[in-house]
Amino acid sequence: MTKKYDFLIIGAGPAGMTAAIYASRAGLKTAMIESGAPGGKLLKTNEISNWPGITSEPGSQLAMDMFQHSTSFGAVYEYGKVVEIKADSLDPTSEKQVLCEDGTIFQAPAVLVATGTRERLMNIPGEAQNIGRGISYCAVCDGAFFRDQEVAVIGGGNASLEEAVYLTNFASKVSILMRREVFRADQIAIDAAKANPKIEIIQNVIPTEILDDGKHVNGLKIMDVKTKEEQTLSVSGIFPYIGADPVTGFLKSLDVLDQQGYMVVNSSMETKVPLLYGAGDVCQKGLRQVVTAVNDGAIAAQDAFHKLKA
Ligand code: NDP
Repeated sequence: MTKKYDFLIIGAGPAGMTAAIYASRAGLKTAMIESGAPGGKLLKTNEISNWPGITSEPGSQLAMDMFQHSTSFGAVYEYGKVVEIKADSLDPTSEKQVLCEDGTIFQAPAVLVATGTRERLMNIPGEAQNIGRGISYCAVCDGAFFRDQEVAVIGGGNASLEEAVYLTNFASKVSILMRREVFRADQIAIDAAKANPKIEIIQNVIPTEILDDGKHVNGLKIMDVKTKEEQTLSVSGIFPYIGADPVTGFLKSLDVLDQQGYMVVNSSMETKVPLLYGAGDVCQKGLRQVVTAVNDGAIAAQDAFHKLKA
């Protein structure tokens, strides 16, 4: 089945949803193709406190409000898992083809990729078989399963510290494990974690193995990177927040990615393939935030509108 639009957006996170608002308001026949629930990382964020105008709000609420807004001017939500984009890198007028896993083909002259990033795995023994059995990459989704239990959070970035504080609503103790002594987080997040009596911060350690009883995680082996000493923490939950990688596998045949797999775009959010755009966390950029993602989405949609109507 082939479906035709003016403007296709892949990924319905903040960047994609904002692009949908701008494109549909401008009169472009617009669809957002998404393989999960709309909202992107907002759905995994307990509290958003840096969205101007709203001091604090659950991420899921902002996601819901953005989604309603994004479809209110005619943009539609299409379910689909994109596996490839075919585009003529020289001809700006040619239709791009967006191929989905189920065989559906979407066609449009302008395509925006706003697929964000996916959490990095630790790649240690015991990880693969324990995902969903004690290992979770989403504290907001799974934190409540660990009421009165001890859990570990891996990483010293904003995500790790913020989610560790959130987990103290349920867990009896939260150990934050950092491989260095230097945080990669904002001071406000560091202060909140340090001030929380349920949190212990253990520095200079890396996780080496996840232990289980055949059904569920029951321990985590860690190693001191300086002394090489090993110890086992008796935790039943492990939340790795060690960064993320861009979701761009379906773009590999087009020469629009940097060495890390992030999209390379110009100031109009356009790649070197005419009318192929990137927006949000999936792009090479310095600051990955909701506010910068929505900015990208608006710029991309507006640029596409001007070029399509020219
Ligand atoms: P970051 O890349 O910022 O932090 C990752 C952390 O994990 C670092 O402490 C890093 O250590 C550590 N790490 C990486 N690999 C390993 C490993 N193999 N084993 C152990 N530790 C490891 O990722 P985040 O997901 O926290 O954040 C991603 C982006 O999103 C950032 O730009 C962040 O600022 C932003 N963000 C902003 C929020 C906000 O403003 N409220 C909330 C959440 C995220 P090292 O430092 O040694 O590399």
